[in-house]
Amino acid sequence: MKPKMNLTTGTRSAALKVRGVSKWYGAERVLVDVSFTIGEGESLVILGNSGSGKTTTLRIIAGLERPDAGEILLNGRHIEHLRARERNIGVIFQNYALFPRMTVEENICFGLRIRGVRRAEQKRRACEMLQLIGLTGQSDKYPSQLSGGQQQRVAIARALAYQPALLLFDESFSALDPQMRGGLRREIRTLLRQLRIPALFITHDQDEAMELGDQIAILNRGQLEQIGSPEQVYHHPQSEFVASFLGAANIVDLQLLDRSPHLQSDDSIDSQAGRILFRPEEVILSAVTQEVQSPPSTLLARGRVVDVVFAGASEWLNVQLDQPARRRSSPPVIIRVSRTRWESRQAKLTAGDPVDIALRTFQIIK
Ligand code: ADP
Repeated sequence: MKPKMNLTTGTRSAALKVRGVSKWYGAERVLVDVSFTIGEGESLVILGNSGSGKTTTLRIIAGLERPDAGEILLNGRHIEHLRARERNIGVIFQNYALFPRMTVEENICFGLRIRGVRRAEQKRRACEMLQLIGLTGQSDKYPSQLSGGQQQRVAIARALAYQPALLLFDESFSALDPQMRGGLRREIRTLLRQLRIPALFITHDQDEAMELGDQIAILNRGQLEQIGSPEQVYHHPQSEFVASFLGAANIVDLQLLDRSPHLQSDDSIDSQAGRILFRPEEVILSAVTQEVQSPPSTLLARGRVVDVVFAGASEWLNVQLDQPARRRSSPPVIIRVSRTRWESRQAKLTAGDPVDIALRTFQIIK
């Protein structure tokens, strides 16, 4: 995996710096001291549930909303006091926001026209943009004559035409059907790499975040919980929220395991107070009659398969852990396991089978 540039140490200069932004709506504080940086040519995805403050963050950067505190710098220049139009930021809205009575070309030229660009230059740039987004020959069509994906491309072309210093994507793909969404995401990623324009996406869709973000910032109730490369946030989540928000995660109290003679307790593990986190794909299941391989895996416990769900290239299993005798009255602990087809062929399991449960890796969380 290619190492990602560390932006906080300034190894690449920042295009956008958001520092300590807070926002109140009446008595509700919807953004709490939000800070992040986007490097030149880099994309950052803000991922969060509905109501977490994503749109508010985007609108503040775009200049459509005022923050109550904090600073925003674009290429080293303070922009908080500038009006939206003066910020040189392109916004691609969820509903495309194309002008229905304007042709594709007129839509693309709109930003240039209001900025007083000469007609010939407008035409030249529109042609260039149409080529870039693969819609050459469609310049005289109206938005209603285009598919959702094509309309979204026109919206991108319109934002790109006046050569913005930053692009903001407001849940831009959620209205498209899944197949088209995937295709368009790949196109946009390629386009952004090619043009080297920094971009900020907001979404609640984790696949989208993984695919589009050089960095992912996880927003929870107005606070950024963690920022990092997709690999960092997935493999080293700093909170239970991040772990369970991004992908499936098992979180198990270590006390449940302390009677297990096989658990290879690391010195750093406080066996009384720890909770461990592991991903479903890090679990190795084997029928109890088989020897469990020792390192690199760690035997967690013994258990019983509750059910097995076929999922095409993989399968999902729910497995209930056997509880130590003195804990029989506590609620059952069920973990989620995913196995590749290859793994499931090696040891076929069905509901009711007793299994040894080992982990390739796990993480201790506070
Ligand atoms: P998201 O985009 O993550 O769904 P928003 O930024 O739209 O979240 O909203 C964050 C919070 O701010 C929500 O609780 C929402 O109800 C509130 N909010 C957003 N816009 C306004 C507004 N104009 N007036 C009052 N409250 C608002």
